[in-house]
Amino acid sequence: MKEKTKVVEVSFVCPVCQERKQVNIDQDQVLNAPRNPVPIVITHGSPEHAVTIFIDIDFNIRAVSASDIVQRLDDTAIVSFRLQKKTVPFPKKKQVSLSGLSGIQCALIALIDGKRSIDELAEALDISTMKVKILCEQLVKMSKIESVKVVIEEK
Ligand SMILES: [Zn+2]
Repeated sequence: MKEKTKVVEVSFVCPVCQERKQVNIDQDQVLNAPRNPVPIVITHGSPEHAVTIFIDIDFNIRAVSASDIVQRLDDTAIVSFRLQKKTVPFPKKKQVSLSGLSGIQCALIALIDGKRSIDELAEALDISTMKVKILCEQLVKMSKIESVKVVIEEK
């Protein structure tokens, strides 16, 4: 018997029309893809719309994103590259005492809002990114800020 291309059936709920969709995906298309998860554009419905599903090597759907218009695969690839990683310190929920802290530590606490990244804080304070990282680590240890997290967001 000759080996045929295996097809894996995956199902997902379309974020546009809320319908559950079943799609058959060539195993080779995923296993031989240059990147992982693999973006696959699926068009369906009336009026026709497109969603992109991102399938990992184990055929789990990692994300589903809607697009208003039918996109080419190339465009979808660009979308996934627009995600950027940044390091963001988060403040304490309650106000913290600033007594005994240096000027730069106070300035940093004032600027930390859970949105500004380490890079943005460094620029605002005109100090190096490394210095901000070290200061943030110290402030976490001193319980003056909550934590430092790596967040991924769309540009
Ligand atoms: Zn749909």
